[in-house]
Amino acid sequence: MIKAVRGTRDLLPPETALWNFVESAVRDVFRAYNFQEIRTPVFEDTALFSRSVGEETDIVSKEMYTWDDRGQVPKILADAVTPEDSARYSYQSLTLRPENTAGVVRAYIEHDLWQKGLSKLYYIGPQFRRERPQKGRYRQFYQIGAEVIGPASAGSESPARDAEVLEMLATLLDRLGITDWNLELNSVGCPNDRTAFNEALRKALEPVKDKMCADCQRRTVTNPLRVFDCKVPEDQPIIEKLPRISQFLDEPCRAHFEAVQAILKSVGVQFVLNDRLVRGLDYYTRTAFEFTHGALGAQNAILGGGRYDGLSESLGGPAAPGIGFAIGEDRLVMSLKESAEGVLRKPDVYIAPLGPGMNAEAARLARELRRHDLVVELGDESFRLKKSFEAATKAGAKYILIVGENEVKADAFALKDLAKGEQVSVPRAELAQRIQGAR
Ligand code: AMP
Repeated sequence: MIKAVRGTRDLLPPETALWNFVESAVRDVFRAYNFQEIRTPVFEDTALFSRSVGEETDIVSKEMYTWDDRGQVPKILADAVTPEDSARYSYQSLTLRPENTAGVVRAYIEHDLWQKGLSKLYYIGPQFRRERPQKGRYRQFYQIGAEVIGPASAGSESPARDAEVLEMLATLLDRLGITDWNLELNSVGCPNDRTAFNEALRKALEPVKDKMCADCQRRTVTNPLRVFDCKVPEDQPIIEKLPRISQFLDEPCRAHFEAVQAILKSVGVQFVLNDRLVRGLDYYTRTAFEFTHGALGAQNAILGGGRYDGLSESLGGPAAPGIGFAIGEDRLVMSLKESAEGVLRKPDVYIAPLGPGMNAEAARLARELRRHDLVVELGDESFRLKKSFEAATKAGAKYILIVGENEVKADAFALKDLAKGEQVSVPRAELAQRIQGAR
């Protein structure tokens, strides 16, 4: 039997009701902050990720699903390929997106979205990373993210944007009934600070790097900041003693970080400072953050994000400072107190056609009731009454509606409340109202 690939999974009902519950809250909350939805392709040019996320990150160096997409030159033509053909058929390296910020910024540049007044965008969709699967960590997982991006003249560089995005996240989590979250905040500075910091890190790592894992030895040379991504337990005491970026922030970065904190305090969003937090992607500048949730266990980060002021330029676009985040939707759903049963809308009524020729009449009634926004499950005339009752109960319907010859003649139908056991005869014209009244 062929099974779902390791690290991927089927999202089945009733759990999908929880996903819909989350997504509809997300759309409502983001709308209130004037974000609009963007959908970018699931695969992109590989260079988009290596240039933005960074060659030395775990994502790019180990976890991407990348392939050469080669147009096949038909054999019969192989000898007669013109230069145009060969350009057309030449391969392109493609990658399943491991994250969505790069795609959004690419689209922002490609479509000149700023000119169209689009600078607050959100997305919901699958991402792909070849990580070791475990609870809360999948190879296809879903992210909900948002980005605020635009020219500095539009205020996109302002600490007010950072604070607004963080406050929006707190609002969303509250709205979803997730209470025990923890916001960890850091500033990873700007390229200015990074040069001095990297230098200091290299110096501090030089005498100890031989005691560290192979990845860290490599990072020491190529991108020392990434040493903070290391999860190897033996390396942690060494990493604990390394200099921190907070000691290297220049005056504008320090002032920006202070301002973000001041606004958060004023709107009452709690946070803790964590100067080890550098996030596993290279494009971040200044504000970096993560929300964690106690109940999630080892994979306790529900979401992460930060500012990426140089990203657009590094992808060949105009200067467009920005800030964004990605929520792990799989983990968000796991953190809900709500149960799928609690958010699922069960059928309001089960229609039971009774006897030959009744399917047509039942279908007509179902159509009328559904037009009144009722959830209707439709049985079949081949069912005996007992089987219809069993099916109605199994579907979790509130009512069963009997459609037999006598009912059709009288144009009034037997409606039974399955929980209370009460049965009444209701004229066709009053059915919808009667059933709606019970909702
Ligand atoms: P990142 O894009 O790495 O900053 O991740 C943002 C959020 O996506 C994390 O906080 C997780 O909640 C979620 N996430 C990242 N990788 C995975 C994965 N492999 N499986 C499930 N969720 C993930």
